[in-house]
Amino acid sequence: MKPCNFTYIKSSSINEVLDVLDIHGEKAQILAGGQSLISMLNMRIANPEIIIDINFLKDVIALNIKDNVIEIGPLFRQLELENWSDLKSNLPLIYQSIPYVGQIQHRARGTVLGSICHGDPTSELPLCFLALNGKIHLKSKKGHRSIPANDFYLGPLLTSKNSNEVAIKLELPTKKEATGYAFYEISEKYSDYAIASFAVVTDNNKIRFALGSIPTKPTVIEWDIKNFKFIDELLNDFAWNLDIEDDQHASATYKRDLIRKVGKNTILSSIKNI
Ligand SMILES: Cc1cc2nc3c(=O)[nH]c(=O)nc-3n(C[C@H](O)[C@H](O)[C@H](O)COP(=O)(O)OP(=O)(O)OC[C@H]3O[C@@H](n4cnc5c(N)ncnc54)[C@H](O)[C@@H]3O)c2cc1C
Repeated sequence: MKPCNFTYIKSSSINEVLDVLDIHGEKAQILAGGQSLISMLNMRIANPEIIIDINFLKDVIALNIKDNVIEIGPLFRQLELENWSDLKSNLPLIYQSIPYVGQIQHRARGTVLGSICHGDPTSELPLCFLALNGKIHLKSKKGHRSIPANDFYLGPLLTSKNSNEVAIKLELPTKKEATGYAFYEISEKYSDYAIASFAVVTDNNKIRFALGSIPTKPTVIEWDIKNFKFIDELLNDFAWNLDIEDDQHASATYKRDLIRKVGKNTILSSIKNI
């Protein structure tokens, strides 16, 4: 199948993007790396009348480090982040997870912000964004807002970004002292979409446990580190409080078991990494 007809607009500035979004709203869609959008156009899951290509923007940042925060702009490719020599020391969670994002060819085109905005519940980068409780900066003709990861994901492929907004920057906190980071993913084979994915950040106060693929959106819970002795019960309660269904890959029983067992192992790895 091929996409429906659309008008293609090549933008060279954020203001140009905002002008188009302001007039056309939901009828327009931003094209970044195209690794998700093009498939959705071909399958006619998305039928925008206008495609705004942001690949030629000149007024955007690439990657900056500022006051213990990594800032990433809208055209920074996933592979550029993976190849960044300081990735492991600054963002150990992303370092562990990024090789699982599709194949190298997808990461060469796919942008970090595109993955965050797409909000696929099986995606690794939205899960890490949530585990790290980063921030996303959105711009529209009406102004600028910054949204914490905790408030960004609303449902499958659904975020709190409005149709008149473009994401201009992602903020992720750099590695903190006395903090452990761990990522683990279960899939049928390497680089397939995950059946379950776990991203954990543990420090002397709390365990922040993020779960992807099983719930309909990336989901996070925090426990006081003092309650670590009850971790089996906490994971069991968490698993039973989610609305989990059987699907073609796994039964609900198996998925709850993954949360209890693989979830616990990922927490233990994060503690070892402190
Ligand atoms: C075969 C295959 C396997 C894959 N496997 C995985 C996988 O295992 N894990 C994984 O995480 N991903 C996977 N992907 C998806 C890939 O990682 C994409 O790169 C990513 O989901 C989207 O990034 P993109 O830059 O290509 O965005 P696009 O496809 O261009 O856009 C995706 C969505 O985000 C919106 N958007 C993009 N940038 C902005 C912005 N700056 N502001 C506002 N909205 C924006 C677009 O309008 C669109 O709705 C796979 C893709 C393919 C084709």
